[in-house]
Amino acid sequence: MIPVADFSLYDHILDTSIAFNVIPQRFQKEAVNESKLTTYFKLARGSKAGVASEMTKWFNTNYHYIVPELEHAQPELKENLALTYYLEAKEELGIEGKPVIVGPITYLKLGKGYRAKEFPLLLKKFIPLYQQLLKELEAAGVEWVQIDEPYLATGEAKADIELYRKTYQDLKKAAPNLKIELQTYFESVDAYEAVVTLPVEAIGLDFIHDHGETLAAIEKNGFPEDKILAAGIIDGRNVWASNLAEKLELIKQLLKQVAPERLWLQPSNSLLHVPITKKSEKELDPVLLGGLAFADEKLIELTLLTKAVNNGRESISKELAENQRNNEALNHSSQRNNPAVKEAILNLEKLKVERKAPFSERIKVQKDWLNLPILPTTTIGSFPQSPEVRKKRAEWLRGDLSKTDYEGYINQEIARWIKIQEELDLDVLVHGEFERTDMVEYFGQKLAGFQATKFGWVQSYGSRAVRPPLIYGDVAFIEPITVKESVYAQSLTKRPVKGMLTAPVTIINWSFVRDDVPKATVGNQIGLALRKEVEALEAAGIKIIQVDEPALREGLPLKRERWKAYLDAAVYSFKLTTTSVANDTQIHTHMCYAEFDDVIETIDALDADVISIEASRSHGEIISTFEKNTYDKEIGLGVYDIHSPRVPSVEEILVNIRRPLKVIPIEQFWINPDCGLKTRKEPETIEALKKMVEATKIIRASY
Ligand code: GLN
Ligand code: ZN
Repeated sequence: MIPVADFSLYDHILDTSIAFNVIPQRFQKEAVNESKLTTYFKLARGSKAGVASEMTKWFNTNYHYIVPELEHAQPELKENLALTYYLEAKEELGIEGKPVIVGPITYLKLGKGYRAKEFPLLLKKFIPLYQQLLKELEAAGVEWVQIDEPYLATGEAKADIELYRKTYQDLKKAAPNLKIELQTYFESVDAYEAVVTLPVEAIGLDFIHDHGETLAAIEKNGFPEDKILAAGIIDGRNVWASNLAEKLELIKQLLKQVAPERLWLQPSNSLLHVPITKKSEKELDPVLLGGLAFADEKLIELTLLTKAVNNGRESISKELAENQRNNEALNHSSQRNNPAVKEAILNLEKLKVERKAPFSERIKVQKDWLNLPILPTTTIGSFPQSPEVRKKRAEWLRGDLSKTDYEGYINQEIARWIKIQEELDLDVLVHGEFERTDMVEYFGQKLAGFQATKFGWVQSYGSRAVRPPLIYGDVAFIEPITVKESVYAQSLTKRPVKGMLTAPVTIINWSFVRDDVPKATVGNQIGLALRKEVEALEAAGIKIIQVDEPALREGLPLKRERWKAYLDAAVYSFKLTTTSVANDTQIHTHMCYAEFDDVIETIDALDADVISIEASRSHGEIISTFEKNTYDKEIGLGVYDIHSPRVPSVEEILVNIRRPLKVIPIEQFWINPDCGLKTRKEPETIEALKKMVEATKIIRASY
């Protein structure tokens, strides 16, 4: 079966909003006289009429969707995209496709602009539109429609199961002859027994990211005899070749519960989350290449498995043998079997992963040598990556600029910005991260166990794609990564320069990670490697070291009951990285979001001396977090938003400093922007920092 209508010009949730006429008020007036496509891109990118709609992470992936703004929604079915694409595939390609749409409950749950108790009413408004949509598909002769309801795999769906039942009864009623495949992914479903009795013809379940729960639930409760099981048995979130023999074993287990004519085989989720094909990767080590499967190769795996089930295992014996050889070659490769790393991991327990003294003592010796004013000012690390910086890097990578000349240029930028920071009168300086394109890629290039790809792009949102590195082997420290730049920056100034690293969990969350060992082990390998980097920085005289963990929240499991294990592992790998230093070395960390209520204990447990967090757009929430919880370490709440080129006024910054000072003692407080400044332009950056320092001095004068 071939899914259709899963293509999108920008984002499939935004497609749904436009098709249902869910257009924020600020764009409505213009929308009357322009094409739907124009409105579509205005919502995505903003226009003179107003800012773009908010973007947020799609469940626990790194894909970002456009959040539906449902306030005052007067939904109408403006276009049946599923039908348009179905007909196009049929007429132009002769394909009898299976249209894919996002289900009403998931769509509305992902939206904003209503209160929880208004949900049933809101849903009621959308049901007739979905009914209409399905009716039209039925009339066009569509046999199967796939309705995605990944919300069913979150921890909250249990409470809504009756709403699901009622909703799907209503949908069924409208188009009784259209068969519905209700699709879930990214986790096991929250209420298996209830979900499989929903009034649909097929249920799609994830057998990869379910912690073994899905098969167990089927074995315990059975699977309804009147339904098809669409089994997601190939990992749609990662890039490794399946172990086909193991997959055949899983299929065998499934066939004990489900008759073969009622079993569909499929990837665990949309292949949006993996690169297209490994065929383009001509320069990779053949051993690694053999162990990879991008989207195209995953589909080949599926057809092979189906063939084996239908025609017997022998029909794919050649491919099975090759698959086994490839996987063994990768698993037995020296990259996956670094004895020193293995040994270090086995001996972790012997390692002390606590600072030598508690914070209350450390901070005294730190304050002694640092001798900073109250409300010390600093930045988060990066300064503008100007077109010039990018040009020089491209020239160097092409071979048009020698390494020496490139590094000379980077040093020149560092020196220029050290001077700018001194002139701004910032207290703790940074080197500016000019040598890094990306805060994960850079470390991937310098640690053993990583491999970059050439064409391994995956969509991050609408117009932006990223190329996550592959963590395919044992991660190990090779040589100092950041020491040269930090030491050079420090040599130019008497003020302290802060070293700058990316922490293990962020590296993991923004990479494709090997799946033959637990993620926590990979995190610990990275932690051990970065521990050496921290020690090298300290030995070279860098005594403030920031270890960024911006993606900590991103990797939170969908179900709350798994949070603790994830967060404990994150804390441990962070402490592996940071705790070997002397008491007077100050460890900073940074995180880029403001929802802290539920992770404040974790943040405390990291035991960083100073944390900077994004806050300027959500002071209210953050402040309430700190009213409710005591936090005794030092903290900088971002005092201005860096996502916009707008230069803030001194008055606004004053407000953002004064408010938290009502709940956080001034001795604990730092002043910094929300995040790194690499996406900003130079003049606006300098102007904004000037205002930040000015505001700080006004407050200092009054204490
Ligand atoms: N140090 C990084 C920077 O300043 C942090 C980026 C981030 O938080 N995403 O760019
Ligand atoms: Zn940030």
